[in-house]
Amino acid sequence: MTGVRVGIDIGGTKVEAVALDASGAVVARDRRPTDPGPDGVVRSALASVRALAAEPASIGIGIPGMVEGGVVRGAVNLGIAELPLADVIAAETGAAVGVENDVRAAAVGASHVWETPTIALLNLGTGVAAGVVVAGRLLSGRGGAAGEIGHFSIDQAGPACACGQRGCIEAYAGGRALALRAGMPAAAAFAAAASGDARARGAVRDAVSAAASAVEILALSIDPPVVAVAGGMARAGGGLRDELAGELDRRAASSPFLRELRIRDRLRYVGDAPLPAVGAALIPEQEPHG
Ligand SMILES: [Zn+2]
Repeated sequence: MTGVRVGIDIGGTKVEAVALDASGAVVARDRRPTDPGPDGVVRSALASVRALAAEPASIGIGIPGMVEGGVVRGAVNLGIAELPLADVIAAETGAAVGVENDVRAAAVGASHVWETPTIALLNLGTGVAAGVVVAGRLLSGRGGAAGEIGHFSIDQAGPACACGQRGCIEAYAGGRALALRAGMPAAAAFAAAASGDARARGAVRDAVSAAASAVEILALSIDPPVVAVAGGMARAGGGLRDELAGELDRRAASSPFLRELRIRDRLRYVGDAPLPAVGAALIPEQEPHG
């Protein structure tokens, strides 16, 4: 195919890619394992492009880590310290290339697919971060830190966070933190908590409370009609969904103010839809607001 917009979501273990036609509909998909390291990531991305389009109109890439001016930094799970990904892919393909942080790309994708111009997307994965789209445009901020609410401290005397603060939302609700606090993989913690494991129950309770705070921060600061929830922690059957709804209900029960905002009703789960790849395909034409 020619003329399609290719979007590539590069994750720690797999690369999910889509081709969009002029109307923005997904017309082809490709899925392959991620080769780690800078060379591996470039190779994986190029393989996805070739599988989807001979001459793509544009290529957008969502990738974990900090992204500025097409350069990826600190993508530790991929083994990348610094990689000028946009320039490398553009040189190899001749296409216009845009690169953005994967959580932000997912927010753009959710906004597009769900036809919701203003949306906040909370990613509960190994770490915790949000992407915000306002009136169809990605919110980037002064230095690209917009949405880094995982490092909002909800307890100054709480557990230490990798960022140097204490009591960050991520230090409770991030998958890595939950695993550490529960003493077992995060995926097992909810079931263990439900069956009475005291340590797991305490860790899960704190993780759910921190996640609820993250949802409230987004709802109260942006007031979007939809708060999308994505990431491994939010996967169906993992136990988080019911717990999070219950926690938001409990908070609303004691507050007419919160009740009126109906925050719980705004939650929508991304699930396994390729929204991050769709969002990535739209990145080259995004003009973020600062
Ligand atoms: Zn932190």
